[in-house]
Formats: sequence, C-alpha cells, structure tokens
Amino acid sequence: MMEGKPRLNGHDLRPESVMMSWGYHPEWSEGALKCPIFQTSTFVFRTAEEGKAFFELAYGLREPAPAENRGLIYSRLNNPDLEILEDRLTLWDSAQACAVFESGMAAIATTLLTFLRPGDAIVHSEPVYGGTEYLLHHVLTGFGITPNAFPAGAGPEALERVVTAAKEKGRLALIYVETPANPTNVIVDITHCAEVARRESTDRKILVAVDNTFLGPLWQHPLTHGADLVLYSLTKYVGGHSDVIAGACLGSRELLSEVRALRTFLGTMAGPWTGWLLLRSLETLKLRMTCEMKNARYLADFLADHPRVNRVYYLGHLDEDDPQHEIYRRQCHAPGAMISFDIHGGEAEAFRFLNALKLIKLAVSLGGTESLAEHPATMTHSDIPPQDQSRMGITPAMIRLSVGVEHPSDLIADLEQALEAA
Ligand SMILES: *Cc1c(COP(=O)(O)O)cnc(C)c1O
Repeated sequence: MMEGKPRLNGHDLRPESVMMSWGYHPEWSEGALKCPIFQTSTFVFRTAEEGKAFFELAYGLREPAPAENRGLIYSRLNNPDLEILEDRLTLWDSAQACAVFESGMAAIATTLLTFLRPGDAIVHSEPVYGGTEYLLHHVLTGFGITPNAFPAGAGPEALERVVTAAKEKGRLALIYVETPANPTNVIVDITHCAEVARRESTDRKILVAVDNTFLGPLWQHPLTHGADLVLYSLTKYVGGHSDVIAGACLGSRELLSEVRALRTFLGTMAGPWTGWLLLRSLETLKLRMTCEMKNARYLADFLADHPRVNRVYYLGHLDEDDPQHEIYRRQCHAPGAMISFDIHGGEAEAFRFLNALKLIKLAVSLGGTESLAEHPATMTHSDIPPQDQSRMGITPAMIRLSVGVEHPSDLIADLEQALEAA
C-alpha cells in the first residue's frame, strides 16, 4: 500500500504520468518492468510473529505502528494487483482510499450494505442504472430500507420535498446520485446534495455517494464537490476495451476501511487477473477518454444538424441560460462521450436505424474503444414501465451512442447511411 502523492522535485505529477509505475517496484519481481499477475490464493509469512501482526492489522485488533504496512495474507483480503490498482485509482479522484470489486454492482451493493441498516431511508436521483434501481427497490426493501427518488434535473425544491418525505419513512442515511443520468444526460448538482446531507446530519452523518461511471475519472471528481463516496463500474471507461467486468468505491480512509471489511466477508473483491487487466487499461485511460470525447463532439454536431434527428441529448450542447449549464460548468471538465438522440418517428424508425448500422455495433454497455448504439426504451431501460419512461424523458425514438476511438469521419459516414435507411 503506497501512501502520499506522486511528486518530482517538489512538483506534483499528474495521474497520467505515473499510471505505468505508481505503487509497483521492479525489485519485488526480479526486476520486471511491468507488474506481474500475482495469481496466488495465499501468501507465505516469513515468521509466525509476522503472520500474527498481519492478522492484527487486517482484523483491526490494533492500530498500525508508524510506517507499518498491512501485509499480504490471502487474496480475498488483499493481493498486489488489487492494491496497486487501488493506489492508482485514488490518484484520478484525489481520494484517500479505494476498494476494487469484481463488478460495478458488487461495488454498489457492498457499499450500500456497509452503510445502510433496517429502518433507514435512502434518497436517490432518478433514473439510475437498472441494476442499481433493482437493488434499491426490490432487494434493499427486503431489509427494511426505503428508497425515495427525485428526478435528475428537477432543481433544488424537488430534492427538498423528497428529503422531507424520506424522513417520514425512516432515518435518512444516504443520498445516492448518478450524474449525468443515463440515457438523458441530465446532471445532478452534487454540491447541493452534499449541503443538504450536511444540514440533515445528526450524530450520524448522512453520506453522499455518486456513481461516476459516465464522466469519471477524467471529467468529473465528485469528492471535490463534497461527496463522501465515489462508485464506478470499471467495466466501462476505466476498463475501456469491453473485455472485463469490475467496479470500485473510493473515499476517505475511514469510510473505505468499513467498505473493505464487508468486502472481505462478502468476498466481492476482484481477482488478480481482473486487477492486472485494469492496470494495463489505466495506462491509456486519458488517451482513450480524450479521443472519445473529441469524437463525440463531431458526432453530436452532425446529429444536431441532421433533418432526420428530432433532438440531441449532449452535455456539450447545453444552452447558456439553461440552469443545467451552470451546474455543468462548476462540476464537469468536459462533456464526455455519451450521446443520446431522438430520431423523427418512433420505435420502428429507431430500429431501422440500429439495424442499418455497419461500423457502430448494436450492443448495450459503454465506454469501450469501439462505438456502440442501443435503444434504451426496449433494452437498458425496458423494465421501467412506459409511463415512468416518459416521465424520465426516455422516448421510443431515443437512441443512445457510446462513442469510441474510430476516425470521426467514418463514424459520421455510418450514422449518415443509417439515418438514410431509417
Ligand atoms: C454498468 C453500470 C453499472 C454496473 O456495473 P457492472 O460492472 O456491469 O456491474 C453501474 N452504474 C452504471 C452507471 C453503469 O453504467
């Protein structure tokens, strides 16, 4: 476990400059430049005394001595590939600590189970990722935890109303935010949520957790806006190649030690191979996300001008006088690479468009090097009843794009021929 920040002669190094090396020392592995895959279930103690000391720290039986590191014990507790990955992920979000999981859902479920108790109420933005929605409304309810939704983009009064309603149903314990919302790209003001949580906290602190999968970890840093916890599906931009499922939770050392403790007992940690794949992905994270973000602007501009397109949902096109624009300016560094648009017509036209695509693949998920397109109403959001979909702004004519690293002119050529075919 590496502490501190990467510095060079008093100069702070940016995360992208140390993604190839941070937290790993070649002398650990015969001088190997790259971190190997530590494909092992267990670790050998040098002495029985060392084993005893490692367990005392792992189980929190005593505080560590100055400069005493947690030793490696067993790969459900810790593993070098995971620890190095966690050290590198903390740099992007300026977090004190991180825990990595075998999926985004494992990260979200473990984190919520860590901090919620029977009788608690949770307030969450809407829409949230389908798996999270199910967890909140069909799993946690079975443990006596009540979900209360406020619409993303509805303004401060809507949040206040839902907080008041939540407090009538239970002890408000957590505000859960997903921003920008999927698939409408509506943003939620994290600073405002953090202010409400602080104001409503009693002896028990109300936590703010943000699912930062869509813009993070490059274009949005929730901890700097007052959030307590940041969650990721690392399957998306961080993994970035559509070949691995993983998740993460980041925050203070104190909160993360609780999350890690439950991770140990639920066994939701990622394996070494997943950790290693993500270490490799992180080396090109900035390159990929920057290229995808630039490509998305070309595509969004093209779509906005196209006569077959009714409406484009893209953060780079927010009007200056839209209240969303002010939040965007404060909270986001770039518009990211997720675009949704309504084609003229309905489901039939949307399907004809999707079936006609040649270079862009018809698949759910996002954040990979290849561009993907899908139909939220009948795919990612199909379990939401039609009247709720329309309240959330999800129309039958809506298509969601995750823009990849291909040449933008080739992507536009594909969009153009598919719009003709629709
Ligand atoms: C994909 C996704 C998840 C779930 O992550 P998995 O890695 O598939 O478990 C959670 N939140 C958001 C915003 C996602 O896009």
